[in-house]
Amino acid sequence: MSEPEVDESGVLLEAREIVKHFPIRTSQGKQLVQAVDGVSLSVRSGETLGLVGESGCGKSTLGRCLVRLLDPTSGQVIFDGVDITTKSRRELRTLRLGFQMIFQDPYASLNPRRRALATVEEPMLTHSLGTDAEIRARALMLLEQVGFDPSFADRYPHEFSGGQRQRLGIARALAVAPKLLIADEPVSALDVSIQAQVLNLLSDLQRDNDLTYVFIAHDLAVVHHIADRIGVMYLGELVEVGSSTDVYTAPRHPYTEALISAIPVIDAEAEVRERIVLTGDLPSPIDKPAGCAFNPRCHYAQDICRTDKPTLQLLDDGREVACHFPL
Ligand code: SF4
Repeated sequence: MSEPEVDESGVLLEAREIVKHFPIRTSQGKQLVQAVDGVSLSVRSGETLGLVGESGCGKSTLGRCLVRLLDPTSGQVIFDGVDITTKSRRELRTLRLGFQMIFQDPYASLNPRRRALATVEEPMLTHSLGTDAEIRARALMLLEQVGFDPSFADRYPHEFSGGQRQRLGIARALAVAPKLLIADEPVSALDVSIQAQVLNLLSDLQRDNDLTYVFIAHDLAVVHHIADRIGVMYLGELVEVGSSTDVYTAPRHPYTEALISAIPVIDAEAEVRERIVLTGDLPSPIDKPAGCAFNPRCHYAQDICRTDKPTLQLLDDGREVACHFPL
């Protein structure tokens, strides 16, 4: 495997041709779930890349591969100039100080018997990131940064609401001063009003702490709210990548167009969008359609779509789109 090139372009995270297949046993024998199939992407320092797609499109699996919570079947992940895919578990322990992950259900990753202050202190103590007094001071500062007053420090996770628990999870992820946060559906279990609070908090923290985000969600409106660029995934592959505004206001892949048409228009004065109903379920990642994987559900499909697989191409407006007939 080739060594990563020295990065001088401000790219903090780069994924090269990431593949993740899971072997499973079915009535037809051993088969492969092709969860992620050759995804390449890069994230510049300080930006937010949103990854969006239906449940089962492989975005969460990709997110876990990016931080080596899952080992990719093949491909490379370069973080801050280091190929983390070749590192041992022991080496990863230190490298992980640079990248942390937050999840949809923070409760599952919080120790129910550990109070909030101890929860935030714990990763710093594990990695000996200061004296006890320094660690305590930083934990209190982080709790304040995510919006808690000092009285919350002694509370247990079950004494927090869902949104507060997510904020506690964010404070703990920030304890080791990472450069990159991978957030996997961090607001999808929250009420809409709380979602906005957590999204605004993430934006503030990004600005104050010089953070880079990969933000994974199934809701394109949420991703548009926070992301600088958006990557749309379908059946384990990126089908469109572009600036958040471009992708949201003028999609060029038919799948992105269908996702956007399904978002309710809240402004009563706004033009009502024509909804494109996606027919059929997401095909099985065990048995992907030939040609373009989206062709059984695509309103624009033509013969070539059923035989020739489109690859991600750079279009004249800077968008990358995998479609024979970009919109
Ligand atoms: Fe639709 Fe064909 Fe484009 Fe696939 S390649 S999205 S089937 S038009």
